Formats: sequence, structure tokens, C-alpha cells
Amino acid sequence: MTSLARRLVVYFVFLAVVPLFAGFLGFTAIIERSEQNRVDEGLQANLRATLATYESELVVAQKSAERLARSTAFQRAVAQRNRSVLAAFVADVPGLRVESGSLRIGKSYSYAGERRVQFVGAKKPVGKLIVSVPLNPASLRRFATLAGVSSSEKLMLVRSTRVFEPKSGAGSRAKLNEGGIGRVRLGGKDYRVLVSRPVSDRGAVGFALVTPQSRVDNAVYRLELRVLFGLLGFLLLMGTIAFLEGKVIVRSVGELAQAARAIAHGHLQERVPVRGHDEFASLAAAFNEMAEQLEARMQELEQERKRLREATLRFSEGLGVSHDAVQLLRVVVESAVEATSATGGVITGPHGERFVVGEPEKGKEKSEWSLRAGREHLGTLVLSGDQFGEDELEMVALLCGHAAVALDNARLHRIVERQALIDGLTGLANRRRSESALDEEIVRASRLGGDLTLAILDIDHFKEVNDRYGHAAGDSVLKELALVLTRSLREIDTAGRWGGEEFALILPGTDTAGGTRLCERIRQTLADRGIPVEGEMTISVTASFGVAGFGSTGSRERLLAAADEALYRAKRGGRNRVECAE
Ligand code: GH3
Ligand code: MG
Ligand code: MG
Repeated sequence: MTSLARRLVVYFVFLAVVPLFAGFLGFTAIIERSEQNRVDEGLQANLRATLATYESELVVAQKSAERLARSTAFQRAVAQRNRSVLAAFVADVPGLRVESGSLRIGKSYSYAGERRVQFVGAKKPVGKLIVSVPLNPASLRRFATLAGVSSSEKLMLVRSTRVFEPKSGAGSRAKLNEGGIGRVRLGGKDYRVLVSRPVSDRGAVGFALVTPQSRVDNAVYRLELRVLFGLLGFLLLMGTIAFLEGKVIVRSVGELAQAARAIAHGHLQERVPVRGHDEFASLAAAFNEMAEQLEARMQELEQERKRLREATLRFSEGLGVSHDAVQLLRVVVESAVEATSATGGVITGPHGERFVVGEPEKGKEKSEWSLRAGREHLGTLVLSGDQFGEDELEMVALLCGHAAVALDNARLHRIVERQALIDGLTGLANRRRSESALDEEIVRASRLGGDLTLAILDIDHFKEVNDRYGHAAGDSVLKELALVLTRSLREIDTAGRWGGEEFALILPGTDTAGGTRLCERIRQTLADRGIPVEGEMTISVTASFGVAGFGSTGSRERLLAAADEALYRAKRGGRNRVECAE
């Protein structure tokens, strides 16, 4: 049993059982008293009827006595003292007694009511007639029958407070109240008793009407039993109603508790049934509404989280895969707008690159962010929106932090990439870049046809320059030559440092004759050029050139070998000249 059910049972006991029990006690007291009164009233009515019967018998007896007293025959018999005649008169009237001087004829009773009639002779009383109604078992039975005393009642005699049988004199003392009603114990049993005033002068005896106390007790018991069953039935009915109602309450509360527990464990789709229109129904409806709201909020939150996760993922992917700073700037502004409630955004790169996302002009509020890594300025992001929350700004700050790192990485990547392909001293393509450029051009020339010329040039007596003017002067010579080369070549040509003071010129779309002419021009320009070394002093250097055409060689190795061979010839032929492979 749940504690709520237990409490409801306790309430039921206090609100129904206890008052009913108290009511029952009160009822029984009333029943007892009213039943007693009913019996007492019965006794009183029957006793009154008994007294009336008795009185009427006395009156009848008195009248007979009076008639006799007036009779001359009787008066003569008294005057003559004729005992036998008088005895005959007395025998005719029951309970009659004649007293005249010493003459006494007739019977005297121990308990009886009497009436006296004087009879007179010559102007003076000569005697009296006494008529008695005896109080013996037979007469009591007669009175009872005439007065309609019920069989459950019994007529007895009382003297003072002693109730007794007229024949045997057996009896006992009664406890009486002022109205002459009380209890008496006779033959080991309790009786209710009602006594009359004395009806006989002799011994001051009165009537006592008794009825067994058990008659009252039995009636009370039966009534009490009926009331008890009635109350028990009522209690059962109330208990059943309370049980059914309590069950509904406990079930409703239980369902609510179970649903609340389910929701607490994340089952937000849980609902409680709404029954009827009472407070429990409105509580259940309110609960369901709350759960619905909660579910909707959770869904919104989940969608928001998903959106944010996707934006973050895209952003991270964007940052991870690209070393293209311009692409990155676009990803940053797109992600920032997506991750916030911004209406639009603008990002500006360090070299003036600009990307616009959404509708920046629509926002009332602007939030500007500078993307920096150390001292390096990498861009400026401006978001426009109605109002940015604290967590949104936090998000953008985080995003900008990552974006700055990625942009800086891209910047460094660009530098490293450049370093991997560009010769640090001259700024020309390095050996690796030169070789791949040569390979690309060979592939293109092989596939599409067209001319391709390779020239290799080597500074003459460069060791001497180093030896005489120092290594720095040698570097200056290399840089000056690079300058001459870049100025002399077209956009599509490649000039690369082949190694030390040796350079390669890759000339697509140029035949060997054209290549030779170009090399001749370069040789001339270099030879004429004064290269400053050690302050005011300038020197001039020359270079030897070997030129070869891809068309006549047909392979990379043969092309290189041919160019090398021509260069070797130029050196051997006296340097500062251009030789073309045969
Ligand atoms: P030749 O006319 O036969 O080519 O004579 P050479 O002195 O130029 O030939 P050699 O190959 O003997 O000398 C090349 C020198 O170039 C040796 C090396 O010290 C120098 N050198 C190579 N790279 C650099 C560089 O980056 N800077 C400087 N200053 N000197 C370099
Ligand atoms: Mg050399
Ligand atoms: Mg040399």
C-alpha cells in the first residue's frame, strides 16, 4: 500500500469510523432510555387501570353494604342479635363483616381495601357494615385481567418499598425513585417495578406492577443490533465509495508520478490520461501541456545543436582541407553567419579580398572581429544582426580564434611552398621546379607538338670572382644574372637555377634558332653589364651557353645531354659564346 493510500485510510477512519462509533454509543443511550420509558409508560397505564378496577369493585361493595344497611330485615336481625340470620346476610355479600357492640360476624383479611357503612337504630349508631375487597392472589389475577395487564407483567403488593407476593409474603426491597418507579430483584432476577400509593388502610399496602428487566434489555439489544447493522451497512457503503474514490485518487497521483519519472529519465513523449473534469483532470492536462512544451523545446534544442554541429563540422572541414587563404576567408564568414543569428556578414582579407554573405545591411547591430596571429593581420570580419547573445559572441570569438590559426597556417604554407620551389638567392625556380617545368613542357610538346628549346648557361671563371672579390660579390653576380634572365624571358618561359653558377632556360614554342638568338642577346647584355662589387667598383662577367631543341633529341635525357654537350663545346671554344647542339 502506498503512503497516500495509507493516509486516505487513516482519514477515512478518523472522518467516518470514529464519528459513527461515537454516534452509535449516543444512539444506544437514547434507545435504552426510550425503551425504558416505553415500558415504564406501559406499567403506569396498566397500574392506573388496575387501581380503577379495584376502586370500582370497592364502590360496588360499598353500595351492596349500604343497601343491606337500609334493609329492615337486616336491622331487625341486628336488633335481635340473631347470629344465624346475620350470618346468612353476610354470606350473600362477599367480603362483608358486621360489627355491633361485641357482635362480630364475617371474615377479616390481612390485605384488603375496606369501606365502612354506619347503620343507626333509634337515633343513635348501633353498628357498622365493613365491606372489604381482599388483595390475594386470586383477586390480583382478576384485577390484572380486567385492567388488561399483559402476560409479561405481574401484579404484586408493596408495603413501604418492599414488593411481595400476597400469599407467601416472599419478596424483596425495591429501589424506587420519587415517581414510584425502580428496580427490584425477585427470585434471583431483575425486574422493573412501578408501585401505587397504599390502597389498603390495613398495613398501608399498595399495588406493585413488575415486569422483567430482561424485557427492556432484550428490546434494547434488538434495537441496538438493528442500529448496529444499519450503521455497519452505512459504513460499508461509505467505505466502498471512499475506496473507489481513493483508488481513483491514488491511481491519478500514481500515473502523474510515473509520467514525471519517465520524463525525468528523458522519455519526453510520456503523457498521462485526462479523465473527467475535476482538479486531477486539469492537473493531468497541465502536466501533458508541460511535457509537450518540454518536448518541443528539446526538439528545437536538438535541431539547434544539429545545426551548430553541422556548421562546426563544415567549418572544421573547411579549415582543415584548405591552405587557400581566400577560400578560408569565405568559409569563415559563411560559418560565422550560420552559427549566429546574424542577417549577414562581410570579411575582408589582408590584400583587400572581400566576401559578403547574407544581407549585412539588414542588421541593426554590428560586431567587428579582427583576425590576427601574433602581429600578422589576417582579415576583418563584420557580422550584422538584430542582437547578438553572449553565447553567440563567445561562439564567434572561438571561430575567429580557429580561423586565425588556419589563415596563419595557410600563410606559412604559402611561404614554405614558395621556398620549396624558388631559389632563395636569385628568386628564380630552383632545380626541382626547373626539372618539373621541363617535364611538363616535354609532355605538352610530345602530346600537342610544337617547339621546345632548352638552354643551359654557366658563368665563366666564376671561381675567380669568388676568389678575388669574395663570396658576397659572387652572390651579387648571381643575382644580377637572374635579373637579366627574367627581364629577357617571356611569361611562358622558365629560368631556373640548375646548380651553383649554372642556369637553365626552358623555352616552349621556341625553336633552336630562336633560342640561340635569345641566348646571344642575354650573353651580350650580361657581358655589357657592370656589376657593382665592394662599394664603387664594378666588374663584368661573361657566360657560356649550350642550346638544344627537343624536336631533334626526342627524350628528356637526350635533350639534357645535347644541351650539356653544346655548353661544353662553348667552354672549350673559348667561353663567352653560344653553341647549339647539332
Ligand atoms: P669555368 O669557366 O670552367 O666554368 O670556370 P669556373 O671557375 O666557373 O668553374 P668551376 O666549376 O670550377 O667553379 C665554380 C665555382 O662557383 C665554384 C663555387 O665556389 C662557385 N659557386 C657555386 N655556387 C656559388 C654561390 O652560390 N655563390 C658564390 N659566391 N659562389 C658559388
Ligand atoms: Mg660550373
Ligand atoms: Mg663556371
